[in-house]
Amino acid sequence: MSPTLVIRPFQTPARGVAQVPGSKSITNRALILAALADGPTLFTGALFSRDTRILIAALLSLGFEVSVDEAASTIRVVGLGGRIPITRCKIHVGNAGTAARFLTAFLALAPDGCYELDGDEAMRARPMRGLLDALTLGGCRALAADGSPASGFPFTLHTTGKLGRLEVDATASSQLLSALLMVLPLTPGASVAMKGSTVSEPFVEMTARMCAQFGRVLVCGDDGAWSCPTPGAYAAQPLYAIEPDATAASYFIALPAVTGFRASVRIEGYATGGLQGDTAFAKVATACGANLKATDGTLVADSWSAVRGGDIDFNAFSDTFLTLATIATLADSPVKIRGIAHTRKQETDRVLAMATELERLGIKVAPTATALRADDTLSSLTIFPDKAALRRAASAGPILIHTYEDHRMAMSFGVLGSFDLFGDGRPWITIEDPACTGKTFPHFFRALEALRTNFIRVSVDGGAASGKSSTSRRLAQIHGLLHVDTGAHYRSLTRALLLAGASADDAASVKSALGKLRIGSRIIARQGARSSALTLDGTLPDDAELRSTEVNAAVSKIAALPSVRAFLLEYQRSQVKLASDHGFAGVVMEGRDIGSVVLPDAEVRIFLEADAEARTLRRAAEGQADQVAQRDHLDATRKTAPMICPSGAHRLDNTHKSLAEVVAEIGELIKVAALPR
Ligand code: C5P
Repeated sequence: MSPTLVIRPFQTPARGVAQVPGSKSITNRALILAALADGPTLFTGALFSRDTRILIAALLSLGFEVSVDEAASTIRVVGLGGRIPITRCKIHVGNAGTAARFLTAFLALAPDGCYELDGDEAMRARPMRGLLDALTLGGCRALAADGSPASGFPFTLHTTGKLGRLEVDATASSQLLSALLMVLPLTPGASVAMKGSTVSEPFVEMTARMCAQFGRVLVCGDDGAWSCPTPGAYAAQPLYAIEPDATAASYFIALPAVTGFRASVRIEGYATGGLQGDTAFAKVATACGANLKATDGTLVADSWSAVRGGDIDFNAFSDTFLTLATIATLADSPVKIRGIAHTRKQETDRVLAMATELERLGIKVAPTATALRADDTLSSLTIFPDKAALRRAASAGPILIHTYEDHRMAMSFGVLGSFDLFGDGRPWITIEDPACTGKTFPHFFRALEALRTNFIRVSVDGGAASGKSSTSRRLAQIHGLLHVDTGAHYRSLTRALLLAGASADDAASVKSALGKLRIGSRIIARQGARSSALTLDGTLPDDAELRSTEVNAAVSKIAALPSVRAFLLEYQRSQVKLASDHGFAGVVMEGRDIGSVVLPDAEVRIFLEADAEARTLRRAAEGQADQVAQRDHLDATRKTAPMICPSGAHRLDNTHKSLAEVVAEIGELIKVAALPR
């Protein structure tokens, strides 16, 4: 029995930088092109996964010099300009489609080679015939064990080093064509025409663009035949940067659909104008409700506004259909996925696998798994979302999702399992054989975990005009926290009490007025942050009213009264739950006694200071007449909850620091505290 992995739902928004590995498709193409180049090429950002290791091992066994540094994600390949040193050997390609196809065509370049090739059981069933037939046309012989022409693995390939004018049927897989395109420049006069059309066009484009990056331009003539007008070895690249995997990135685009309102996942190096057709998923996701922002090669995926249903053709970027298919179960209307017939012959029959596992979760799909089993030409899948059905299916505990040795099944359902289906963090999905992600993304579940944040509470205390509000608002904005200004609570209360005729000098009048006030909260957007504001009898005074001369003069006296502090303490503590209920990553609460009394166990406690002169100047600059020193004195010397630097707090004097510096300094503490323990 392979081990299983219980997926723990995210109870806080996913936040942080997604650790997306290099693209498998680019890494494996680059390895072939570099081996056919005229000298050493160094790759950065390379992927180390089962499929790329298979190709690296094959190149080594063929006599190439390949050195890898996994920690640095680099690979160095010394190309031999089309020469293959070892002409007789056995090669096993596992279930790596790219290695299987690319190597087979690559080996055809050996003038007198004899190679025994085999793959895993699953690979033996995957399309190879189009490629073997094409190579046979060019003069190679691919023979099965009984000496008859082979149509798939295992086979022995006898090569001549010549290709000539080839024709390939690549209807089953575009890799059959890509494999031939990459070797075209090495055999002058060679050309490849296509019989029929192919799937996944963008991958053919990726191949052609990469050949050009390595110095050989391929052209597709009016007759549909590809050739290289200036044949020869590829040009070695001193430094070739591999793009992060766009298909792998799709899981992190989808994750914010299921993990809280304030999710924000950064995908660095995501190249929408790059080589990978699967970046089209970003458009599909946006149409389905994703909130994506792209700047300078970084894609930021925020929480989705909804998961909207629709009818989508995934033909050109079908590897990503599974990503949408799982979260489609949470959509607001059915999701129809079309153009995926060819995925029925990939790592597994992906359409059938997806239908079977969605049905296991109680989800209705059309066609059903039974219908798909009976008819292998069915080529679309409609998913009918139903959260109640999911809850019913998982009511007795997590459901084991079968993954069929398909990395994309494991990753897609890993994203779905991150959804807090029951609202209490109870796991409901278990993934069979999680290690199968090793094909393209060995650390997927670790990368997912790294985006889990702990709900965090930040207390910011300090004297008047010490910079608490501007700092707290900015922290709230950057870290997805709910901002709570308790100074405004005391001001609001002071104003209401004064209006009710109570006096700071008459504790009894305050107490009786307090008894008549109805307290509430309203979440408002202010200066880029979301703040929870206190309402009294449903009203929310504006800033000028809260900072009037009368309020400034009375607030510290009122705030010193034990009845007032008792009135606000539980209310202030309840703001933590409010933040959590509204999907915030945490709360940042500012005041005088937050780290000492209100939230003494806050994960991050800050005490802000600035010298008196600087503070008076700040208030003056805001146009406020405020007795800063006088208020501080009252606040620091009162009996109940006096202003102190809380124990264990991070003391920060910002007299000579910019807001950005202060926020960055506290940001580091927040990041550490938010890491899952
Ligand atoms: O922060 P701000 O200047 O708006 O606070 C107004 C007053 O509210 C403070 O001077 C203090 O008297 C009172 N306060 C308090 N405890 C808090 C926050 C504010 O006593 N946690």
